[in-house]
Amino acid sequence: MDAEIGIIGGSGFYSLLESPESIEVDTRYGKPSDRISIGRLGSFKVAFLPRHGGRHTLPPHRVPYKANIDALSQLGVERIISTASVGSLKKEFKPGDFVLFDQFFNMTHGRQDTFYDEDKVAHVGMADPYCSEMREIASDTLRELGISYHKNGTTVVVNGPRFSSKAESRFFSRQGFETINMTQYPEVALAREKSLCYLGIGIITDYDVGLEGEEGILPVSADEIISVFGKNVSKAKSLISEILPKLSSERKCKCKDSLEGAFISH
Ligand SMILES: [Zn+2]
Repeated sequence: MDAEIGIIGGSGFYSLLESPESIEVDTRYGKPSDRISIGRLGSFKVAFLPRHGGRHTLPPHRVPYKANIDALSQLGVERIISTASVGSLKKEFKPGDFVLFDQFFNMTHGRQDTFYDEDKVAHVGMADPYCSEMREIASDTLRELGISYHKNGTTVVVNGPRFSSKAESRFFSRQGFETINMTQYPEVALAREKSLCYLGIGIITDYDVGLEGEEGILPVSADEIISVFGKNVSKAKSLISEILPKLSSERKCKCKDSLEGAFISH
């Protein structure tokens, strides 16, 4: 086993690893977003993969999601911690807050989103795509660290790279979705197909355009978004370092059984 925990996120998380080694991994679905860094973090061996490539050159719709999940799975990873910046669709989900996703709503199109499109028919259950055990641990840790957060939230995933129109954004708000982003799908669904635990941490950078004009909601500049995000990367790093020691060495959650009953037999 090369690694037990996978981290997918921005390149800022690289510095979490002690004495990292960078390796090239190939998969039958092509190459992942970048070389994978493997190092220690506490008692775990951790593999880090920058989702958008080391120089941030891959837009959300061109991230090789299948190769990324397959590469981490090949390395022996059983649990993935992922971070993503998100826009808020609800006033009480404020810029700077963290969200632990418990549901996604897919609005992307044309993405390679299953490992079962060849010779095997499988219908993998997706009722609860995120690992409830890891979400529970992350929630306790966020509380201890005094970070403002939301324990649950549905994130709608749009194709990008463009942002939403006001009409689209208002539509998503009206559905009751809390946040919007461009990368959670198919990443979490593919992890589920590999029976991996997946923790999705959203960092709210701004209010989405549909909320513009509401009382107390001011337009933000790109500079402000970058500064909010930068401050939160260090919070996310503390969060991840504090979560790891709380994980059991053996998984007790149901994620590892995600393929039970998925295959059609005659
Ligand atoms: Zn799990």
